[in-house]
Amino acid sequence: MLRIHCPQCKKSFFWTDDMPTQGKCVNPDCGWHYNVRAELKKNLSPPAMEEKKAKPLLCPSCQGEITARFSICRNCGYIVLGRTAVRKSVAFLYICLLLIILSLIFKYSG
Ligand SMILES: [Zn+2]
Ligand SMILES: [Zn+2]
Repeated sequence: MLRIHCPQCKKSFFWTDDMPTQGKCVNPDCGWHYNVRAELKKNLSPPAMEEKKAKPLLCPSCQGEITARFSICRNCGYIVLGRTAVRKSVAFLYICLLLIILSLIFKYSG
């Protein structure tokens, strides 16, 4: 079922599956013809446009615009990891810690 708005008589009506995909407006005084495929496109395009206008990704640290969820902010230089941002030195510490943990795992598992 699809709601169709007639641009000529401003009447809106429901199109159901048992109706032809192209036909005349339900108003007998109106000569407008509907096309369900065109109407479907009209119905689908507004949300798609809104998606494009979606909020830009912002750096959790400085609120500057970033290009990806996981990137380095050009404004403050922080490393953006999803919803958190860490300083490069902190990220380096994390990597060091990870390597230490990994080496410990290998040490005890081997
Ligand atoms: Zn009409
Ligand atoms: Zn930033």
